[in-house]
Amino acid sequence: MADLAENLAKLDGYLARFREAGVRNLIGGHSVAAQSGATFQTLTPVDEGVICDVAQGAAADIDAAAQAAQAAFPAWRDLAAAERKKVLHRIADRIEARAEEIALCESWDTGQPIRFMAKAALRGAENFRFFADRAPAARDGQALPSPTLMNLTTRVPIGPVGVITPWNTPFMLSTWKIAPALAAGCTVVHKPAELSPITASLLCEIAHEAGLPPGVWNLVNGFGEDAGRALTEHPAIRAIAFVGESQTGSAIMRQGAETLKRVHFELGGKNPVVVFEDADLDRALDAAIFMIYSLNGERCTSSSRLLVQSTIAEAFTVRLAERVAAITVGHPLDPATEVGPLIHRVHLDKVTGYFEVARAEGATIAAGGQRRGDAGCYVAPTLLTGAKPEMRIAQEEIFGPVLTVLPFDTEDEALKIANGVPYGLTAYVWTADLTRALRVTDVLEAGMIWVNSENVRHLPTPFGGVKASGIGRDGGDWSFEFYMEQKHIGLATGAHPIPQLGTLPKGAP
Ligand code: NAD
Repeated sequence: MADLAENLAKLDGYLARFREAGVRNLIGGHSVAAQSGATFQTLTPVDEGVICDVAQGAAADIDAAAQAAQAAFPAWRDLAAAERKKVLHRIADRIEARAEEIALCESWDTGQPIRFMAKAALRGAENFRFFADRAPAARDGQALPSPTLMNLTTRVPIGPVGVITPWNTPFMLSTWKIAPALAAGCTVVHKPAELSPITASLLCEIAHEAGLPPGVWNLVNGFGEDAGRALTEHPAIRAIAFVGESQTGSAIMRQGAETLKRVHFELGGKNPVVVFEDADLDRALDAAIFMIYSLNGERCTSSSRLLVQSTIAEAFTVRLAERVAAITVGHPLDPATEVGPLIHRVHLDKVTGYFEVARAEGATIAAGGQRRGDAGCYVAPTLLTGAKPEMRIAQEEIFGPVLTVLPFDTEDEALKIANGVPYGLTAYVWTADLTRALRVTDVLEAGMIWVNSENVRHLPTPFGGVKASGIGRDGGDWSFEFYMEQKHIGLATGAHPIPQLGTLPKGAP
């Protein structure tokens, strides 16, 4: 892998066009400024310097994009699925060809270490290939014969949809939502996060270069409260696929109520990793560290609460603290970096604010617990011990490289602590006892659970959360269920009797 200096030199070349022209909207196949002419700036969290201007779209731009998506819908819906499949594979080819550019730009815009972003770009291509291959079967249905009818079911794409994405791994998450929408035959208006707009713009450009017809995929940059809101309220948009904070999900549900939007929400998490005394503790340690300190801890599936059995808690926590203190914090484009700067100063302040909360609540900071350096949004990987389940540091999503340790005595206590939060996205269980694993996974309130493993995504499986962590599932056929409508067609198989009205003789009672 290239070193920091090489990466910076390459990045400079890739960013030149954005410095000159900014990040623009892409509506109806045209690269355009916001109709108002307004722009905002995107910054790099490395030194908080300006990367470039970004078109600040609002209701008028969303309206133009929604109209373009509506106009493009019939032709895209009716295109032979085999043709849609080819276009989506061509998008994947071009993502792979530009993976380095995507990874470097994403690292610089978000602060995510390049060691993870290189893979995120390729996973984006995989998402397109996976749903491309499923496109030909998306409309398949069932035959459900009854005594008088041949009942058929089929699925049809719901129509133009809105996709709203967050700033953590923005490229991969955009592909994950948009690829199935396109494969299903929907057209899209995408509103990416205002804090990380660059790779969404690359992705939409790539799709057009790959031959996606104009209007099928429209990109409008802007802020949540105006562009995002307008998208959720637009009458031509049939559904909203949203990834972001739980509170924003509630707001979107309210905003979409008037136009009866179908919603799919992937929201926040406060995910437990539960380590029992009989587990393979070396592997459990590696996985617990990976799942909270990779991707800067800015990861919805992060294991931000470590529930560890009291009999092994002290020894396990000592080893953990040593490893956390040894994590390499640095420039995100340095291949040696394990934790880079957080997305933005506002988020840095939120995360470091929890160090004060931890102290005030009486917890112990066993590693980290402060900013790193004077410039940029760097924070030390942090381990909080001596915590109680009801403390804010054990209840609220911090969304940074911060792990809260909660010892437990019994299986019942572990389950009570694990389930005692508003969220329910993922859970991780470490035990050598198969029957315990079955019991515990049955009771854990989470949409996804891994036993003796870190989070390993397999695209055919359902991805999503329960409680405040979301509504709906992605992956496999579940994505098509969201982006498509079921239709029932009943065909008479003979001349069955039809109830007759208006045939009684005149004057009959
Ligand atoms: P956020 O909710 O602040 O913003 C997400 C997106 O919503 C942005 O594009 C924003 O502009 C837009 N938005 C904000 N207000 C809006 C409104 N009123 N109407 C319409 N759109 C609006 O989230 P964030 O801070 O960007 O991302 C971090 C959050 O995302 C965390 O809570 C994390 O757990 C969650 N997340 C969840 C998953 C998952 O799969 N469950 C995946 C990644 C991130």
